[in-house]
Amino acid sequence: MSPHRQFEQRRSDRERMVDEQLARRGISDPGVLYAMTSIPRELFVPVQLRDRAYDDGALPVDCRQTISQPYMVGRMTELLGLSDADRVLEIGTGTGYQTAILARIVAHVYTVEWHARLMTQTAERLRSLGINNVSYRCGDGSLGWTERGPFDGIIVTAGAPDVPRTLCEQLVDGGRLVVPIGAENEQTLVLVRRVGEGFRRENVLKCRFVRLLGAEGWGA
Ligand code: SAH
Repeated sequence: MSPHRQFEQRRSDRERMVDEQLARRGISDPGVLYAMTSIPRELFVPVQLRDRAYDDGALPVDCRQTISQPYMVGRMTELLGLSDADRVLEIGTGTGYQTAILARIVAHVYTVEWHARLMTQTAERLRSLGINNVSYRCGDGSLGWTERGPFDGIIVTAGAPDVPRTLCEQLVDGGRLVVPIGAENEQTLVLVRRVGEGFRRENVLKCRFVRLLGAEGWGA
């Protein structure tokens, strides 16, 4: 297939993904749908899996990690209720696909990744796509990024044993945190809203993520 035909094919696969996997399953935030229509997911998966970039599932990537299912990316982003002036903290940069979606919607994304190699590759990938409103940090994101907080939204894309208290405290009043909580083989996606000094917690859906390492995760 010529590069041009392949580009067109992937664009139509992407539009179909947004329609069938997101819009028809209830994701309606126009910012989320627009961002997921504009970011080429095939550039975030290993070369040999590019033909599966718009499949309805997670895919394996480097460092024994995964790129999340498109629906999960869309749903988690929508739950944050973002607007264009927001500052968001992401824990678990991975391939940077979720980072890129967030960066299309908000003013600035702060992202923390445990694995240095993933972090470096991802920062290069996003810069090559012209995405420059992202700050990167390598380390234990289960403790957040205090110096840059508080944040309007915090998203954790790895499963934790319990809601990390340190992250809740880095939310602005009215801010939202989404985090998968539970056992290693199955978690519940939890939405936490800060209301003054209190926190309201809501269980959203069952999910499955790789483990969150670190102090408020499953350890190193
Ligand atoms: N959002 C990513 C999903 C990555 S999988 C994507 O769509 O590509 C989860 C990521 O969390 C992995 O890259 C893993 O290395 C990272 N991770 C696990 N524990 C972490 C921690 N305590 N701090 C920062 N990153 C962590």
